[in-house]
Amino acid sequence: MKNIIILGGGIGGVVSANLLRKKLPLEYKIILIEKNPVHYFAPSFMWLMTGDRKPSNISTKLEKLLNPGIELIIAEVNYIDVTNKNIHTSNGNYNYDYLIIALGADLAPELINGYNQDFHTFYSFEGSIKLYVALQNFNGGTIAVVVCSLPYKCPGAPIEGTLLIADFLRKKGLSDKIKINYFTPESQPMPVAGPELGSSVIKLLESNDIAFKPLHKLERIDSVNREIFFENKNSEKYDLLVVIPPHRSPKVVRDSGLTNEAGWIPVNPQTLETKYETVFAIGDITSIPIPGRWKSDVPMMLPKAGVFAHNQAEIVAERIVDKINNIESKHIFKGAGYCVIEAGNKKAAFAYGNFYGEPHPDVIMKNVEKKWHLGKVIFEKWWLSSGIMKSIIEVILKFGIKLFRLPIKV
Ligand SMILES: Cc1cc2nc3c(=O)[nH]c(=O)nc-3n(C[C@H](O)[C@H](O)[C@H](O)COP(=O)(O)OP(=O)(O)OC[C@H]3O[C@@H](n4cnc5c(N)ncnc54)[C@H](O)[C@@H]3O)c2cc1C
Repeated sequence: MKNIIILGGGIGGVVSANLLRKKLPLEYKIILIEKNPVHYFAPSFMWLMTGDRKPSNISTKLEKLLNPGIELIIAEVNYIDVTNKNIHTSNGNYNYDYLIIALGADLAPELINGYNQDFHTFYSFEGSIKLYVALQNFNGGTIAVVVCSLPYKCPGAPIEGTLLIADFLRKKGLSDKIKINYFTPESQPMPVAGPELGSSVIKLLESNDIAFKPLHKLERIDSVNREIFFENKNSEKYDLLVVIPPHRSPKVVRDSGLTNEAGWIPVNPQTLETKYETVFAIGDITSIPIPGRWKSDVPMMLPKAGVFAHNQAEIVAERIVDKINNIESKHIFKGAGYCVIEAGNKKAAFAYGNFYGEPHPDVIMKNVEKKWHLGKVIFEKWWLSSGIMKSIIEVILKFGIKLFRLPIKV
C-alpha cells in the first residue's frame, strides 16, 4: 500500500486527486486533506456580486466533486514534515510516499495600512455577498478599485470585476453619476501577457468609462476621509472602495522549509517538482519564473490562476503515475492558459496562448462576444456538477471548443 497525499481541495487538489484515482489501482491510497467541506467556485464570485448567482449556485459539497475511492479528510493541515514524509493535521497524522501541495493563496486584507472591516472586495465569497448589498444601495459617486499588491490570483479577475461593477451601475441608471478608477502597481494590465494584450484591455476598460491608473503602489488608506495614498502619486478620494487584498501563502506552507523568501514554493517550471523528489507543488502556492523572460533584471512570474492550477494538476498526476510505473515521464507543463473576461451585458472577452512563449508570450485576445460568456457559464456548470450531468456538460464543452477551434482543453 502506498499513500499519495494531496493538500488542499481547491482547483488543483480536486483535479489531481481525480486523475490519480482514475489512473492508479486501489492499492494506491489517494488522500485529500482540506479544511473546508464546502467548495466555492471563485470565478463565479463576480456573479454573486452582481446578483446573477445565489450563494448556493456557486458552492457544493467538496465530496461531490471527488471520484469514488478518494479518501477525503476534512482537517486543517498544521505541519508538513518533509523529512519524515508526514503530515500533521487537526484530525491525525498521515504518512505519504508522494505529496502534492495545492494549498493556494490566502487573502490578507489586514496587511493594508489603514485596513477597515468596511472595505469591500469581490475576491472572497463573503465579500462578494456584502458588495452586492453595497452596490444595490449605491446612488452615485467615485468608485475606487485598488489592486493592493503583487502577486494576486487571476490577472483578469480585477478587470472583470470592475467591468461588471460598471455594468451593474449602468443598469441602475447611474451612468452619469459615477466615476470608476482602477488603480494597480503594474505598468499595464496583465504585463506578463505582453504589451498588445495590455493595450486591448485598457481599450476595453476605457470603452466602459473606467479610468486605468497604472504604477499606483498603495501606501495607506484613510477610511475616515475616504482617501487613498499612493507612493509618489497624488492621493485620490473615493465613495466606494473595492480592494484586491494582499495575498500570502498559508502559514503552514511558510513553516514547511519549502518556500522562498516571499513565502511561495519554487518548483521546476516544467515538472512542478520541489527540491524534494517526491514532493510537488501546484497552483497559487507556487513561484514559477517564466523561462527566458526578464523585466529590469527581475524574472517575470507565471500568474496565479485556476487554469494553470488545473493544467499543472494533470501534469503532476501523470508524472506520479509514471514514477510509480518506472517510466520516464514525457508529461511537461508548457505554460498554456486562457482567460475569459466578463464585460457585462452577458458578453465576455477571451484571451489565450502560451505564457512560456519566447521571446514573447503568444497570448491573444478575442473581441467581446456573447459566445465567450456562454463558454464561461458552461464551464462553471461543468465544474460544479457531478455524475452523469458532468459527463453531459463535458460533451457540450468539448463540442464548443472544437466548433470554435480553440487550442484549449478541459
Ligand atoms: C474572484 C476570483 C475570480 C477568479 N477567476 C478566475 C478565472 O476566471 N480563471 C482562472 O483561471 N482563475 C480564476 N481565479 C483564480 C483561481 O480561483 C485560483 O487561481 C485557483 O483557485 C487556484 O487553485 P489552487 O488549487 O492553487 O488553490 P485553491 O483553489 O485556492 O485551493 C486551495 C485550498 O487549500 C485549502 N487550504 C488552505 N490552507 C489549508 C490548511 N492549512 N489546511 C487545509 N486546507 C487548507 C483552502 O481551503 C482551499 O480549498 C479567480 C480567483 C478569484 C478570487
